[in-house]
Amino acid sequence: MAAPHDLHHAVLCELDRALDALDLDEDLRGAVRDLERVVVVQVPYVSDEGRFHQLAGYRIQHSTARGPAKGGIRFHPAVTREEVAGLATLMSVKTALLNLPLGGGKGGVACDPRTLSDREQEQIMRSYTRAIAPVIGPDLDVPAPDVNTTERHMDWLADEYAEVVGRQVPAVVTGKSLANGGSAGRDTATATGCRHTIVRAAQHLGLPAGARVAIQGFGNAGAHLAHLLAHDGFRVVAVSDSRGAVYNPRGLRIPELLADKMTTGVVTSYDDAEVIDPDELVDVDCEVLVPAALEGAIGAREAERVRARLVAEAANGPCTAEGDAVLADRGVTVIPDVLASAGGVTVSCFEWQQNRAGERWTERDVAARLEERMRAAFDATWDLATERALPLRRGALVLGVGRIADAIQARAREDLNLSA
Ligand code: NAD
Repeated sequence: MAAPHDLHHAVLCELDRALDALDLDEDLRGAVRDLERVVVVQVPYVSDEGRFHQLAGYRIQHSTARGPAKGGIRFHPAVTREEVAGLATLMSVKTALLNLPLGGGKGGVACDPRTLSDREQEQIMRSYTRAIAPVIGPDLDVPAPDVNTTERHMDWLADEYAEVVGRQVPAVVTGKSLANGGSAGRDTATATGCRHTIVRAAQHLGLPAGARVAIQGFGNAGAHLAHLLAHDGFRVVAVSDSRGAVYNPRGLRIPELLADKMTTGVVTSYDDAEVIDPDELVDVDCEVLVPAALEGAIGAREAERVRARLVAEAANGPCTAEGDAVLADRGVTVIPDVLASAGGVTVSCFEWQQNRAGERWTERDVAARLEERMRAAFDATWDLATERALPLRRGALVLGVGRIADAIQARAREDLNLSA
């Protein structure tokens, strides 16, 4: 993995380039770049041994210009204000790019879930929910799962929020269990969305049938994606998790690999492959590389070693600005995170819409709507990037940022009318 980097700074640099391309004036630039609300909270809990602990928690709303802020809650030791701010900003661009009636936000608690029992995690989630309750709600800010948080955490959030406000408000959070108002198709949404973008890009680039894929990260996003791509006829030749990686140039048998990972917790328990160091995954000879772990994984040094023609950013912010520049120089096409990982937030939006309308959509319905949204966003990005000779990331940013700027201006004009 590359050295840790300031994700917020990197995202703002990218935003600036899009703002330059849009030629917006200074005040509007500021309105697009700045964070709307930053909430830092104390998250106290009592450990199973009866000791008091306090953690730092964050909820950041980058923009609500197009609708309520939307974005996940992360439990990870590396959670910082800068990281959450960068991720919140990316969420605004992502929701705008997918043309969802939502803005962007993100949250996190700086903790290591590997050292916490279920009871401790529940206590932390409930404590964090009480702390951020005044700034979330179906019309304000709607959290969701992210790294190391699952539907269980979202159910705890929904339950605790109901305690605080005195009534059930399912649309306050998405990524809930099906029994608790979750949407069909949510668990595979990020992977499914990423798959649509890879299939589309592979067609445009003329990648061969059975194109080889390497996937970094074998969690919710990476594991489901491996399964879907293998089903589509791609050859998944390497996957990694935080503890190891496996490589077989003839292809990995994904159902078996999934079963082994489920049983043992590590991908290296799969025996029909060479075990390699997780850092060597970027060196693997393949057509498609999918970073689906944490951000900052592909810096300049890693980018020099990439052999793939296509990189699909299933994770948020996996390529540093330097890494991205090297990939562009080397002619590698990058499907940016705001597009490649937007399936999750799209189905989250569907869940929020279903909860508000009191509806339940079928899995087929969700899948069809997701495919339509992903294709529309991919094609709009591809066309704009081609027309203006921009990398896809810049094209996606120009589209998303332009829509946010339009909404900010439209709102300002409405305010003016109301007070006139
Ligand atoms: P997850 O916790 O389920 O999985 C993360 C995986 O990355 C795990 O397999 C872990 O072992 C692996 N990993 C960690 N460090 C690694 C390393 N150094 N080398 C290789 N693998 C490593 O998380 P997830 O939900 O799959 O999310 C992954 C990324 O996708 C994150 O950046 C997240 O923000 C992004 N994302 C996820 C969703 C979603 O709906 N799950 C939506 C949008 C974006």
